[in-house]
This record gives sequence, C-alpha cells and structure tokens, in this order.
Amino acid sequence: MRIGVDVGGTTVKIGLIEDKKIIKSYEIKTIKDTLFDDIFNSLINTLKEYNKTLDDMENIGFGLPGNVINNYIVNLPNIGIKDLDLNHIVKKYTKLSIKSSNDANCAALGEDINDGDSDSSYFITLGTGVGGGYVYNHKLVEGNHFACGEVGHIKIDKHNYSCTCGLKGCLETVASATGIVRLAKDYKNEYKTNIDFNNITAKAVIDAARNNDELGLFVLDYISEALGRALSIIAVTNDIKTIYIGGGVSKAGSILIDGIRKYYKEYAFYACKNTEIKLAALFNDAGMLGAAYL
Ligand SMILES: [Zn+2]
Repeated sequence: MRIGVDVGGTTVKIGLIEDKKIIKSYEIKTIKDTLFDDIFNSLINTLKEYNKTLDDMENIGFGLPGNVINNYIVNLPNIGIKDLDLNHIVKKYTKLSIKSSNDANCAALGEDINDGDSDSSYFITLGTGVGGGYVYNHKLVEGNHFACGEVGHIKIDKHNYSCTCGLKGCLETVASATGIVRLAKDYKNEYKTNIDFNNITAKAVIDAARNNDELGLFVLDYISEALGRALSIIAVTNDIKTIYIGGGVSKAGSILIDGIRKYYKEYAFYACKNTEIKLAALFNDAGMLGAAYL
C-alpha cells in the first residue's frame, strides 16, 4: 500500500493507493501550525482500519503547493510555511523515508500513471496560474533547478503583461484563469459582448464563447493559440507522446481542447504533429496518485 498526500491551501487530500488505484481518500483542513502532525496523526488512525502502520507502507509521498527541494520546504506561499525540513518531522512518526515534489509535478505523474500507456508525457494545469510537469518512463523529471515543467513561464505573449515570476509576457499571463479575465477586460471595447463585468470569471468568459459571444470567442481563440504555440515548443524539445491538459480552466472541455489542437497542428514540427493532446482524466485525484508514486 502507498500513501499520496496532496496539500492545498485550504484542504489536504489524503489517499491510500494499491495497484495504481485510490482505494480510500479523505480530506482534512489545512492548518498551518499543525499541518504535518495533523496529516500523520490522521494517517495513523486511518491505517488502523487496515491493520497497518506507517512503517508497512511502500511509499509516502507529498505534493506541496510551492517550492520543495529534497524534502526541504523552501516556501509554501499560500499556507505561510517556509524553511521547514520534512525529514525531521517524519522521523517522529515512521522509519520510512518520504518523498515530495510540487503539486503540479505530482498531478503530472498521477495522470501519466493513470493513463499507463505513455512512455513520455507532459501535463499542463490551467488554474489561477499555469503549471505543469514532465514525466519520462513513468518517472518525474524535475531537472537541475527543479524547474522542469514550469511551462507557464515560457515567454511568448506580445502584451508583455507582468507575471508573478518577475518576467513579462509569460504564457501564464494570458492562459490562466487570471489571464482570461484580464484579456476579456482589455478587449471589451473591441468586441460585442454580453459578459457581466461586475462578476466576471474565466468560466463566464468561456461560457460566453460557447454562446457565440464575440468577446468570449476572441479570448478563447487567443488563449488556444498561445497554448498551441507553447505546447509545440515543448513537444519538439522533449518529443513526448501525450500532453494532458488539466486545472480549473480545462473544465471548458472540447471547446478549449479543439482550439489548442488546431493551433498545435499548425505550429508543431512535422515529426511531432501527432502528439496526443488529451483532457486530464483524474482532475482532483491526480495529485494524490502521483505523490504516492514519487
Ligand atoms: Zn512568468
């Protein structure tokens, strides 16, 4: 049995996994001061139902929303935890050594493991920001600077909007939920629209596109082009088999994927034109599954 823990800003998702399937999952609240003690104590209780202890586990993995290097948490900005050595905490509870990575990497590995038939894949998550991960032979590739998969910071956009990373014009500045809202606001006088700008969300912009709203269609086409271009760059760099698109914005479904595929085909190097682009299948469970297989 393996354990995958996906730590989020408000809740922690904990999964018990056997043969690549989540056999039990539950959530606890994210409380900054007692976070890891809460996780381990809840696990000890849950494992009693299976007559197991933490030491019986094949692996315990953590997906964390921020920067983590060799189980050392550099910064989890949404939770307010900095400079914390997980190895130190774990020793109180188990002899097992744990593994950890950032949450987008874990989701990338989870989608790859769940799909099972890809020897190399890229996962891109479109949420408040844009993240991702690269998996080769079912193993996560983190890179020399633990930056592999940071596809949101490929600098491709002509508007040069400022990005959270300090650069300007990153993919994230247009293709994230935040970017979609920004584009709709910036172009609202150039296209006819029924979008309510008092309560605007990325979902509202995409729903408008679905209803043939001119501004909605413009924004959807704009981000599809940006994503198709960024993915064509990734594809020719790593020559991957499959690209998974996940995150809240991917709930747009086929209207988004079809647009990305159209531009991807146009821009991709000839040998990479048939790279599969799929909607992520696991959605909120991907992080737990991936963490368990780190
Ligand atoms: Zn950036």
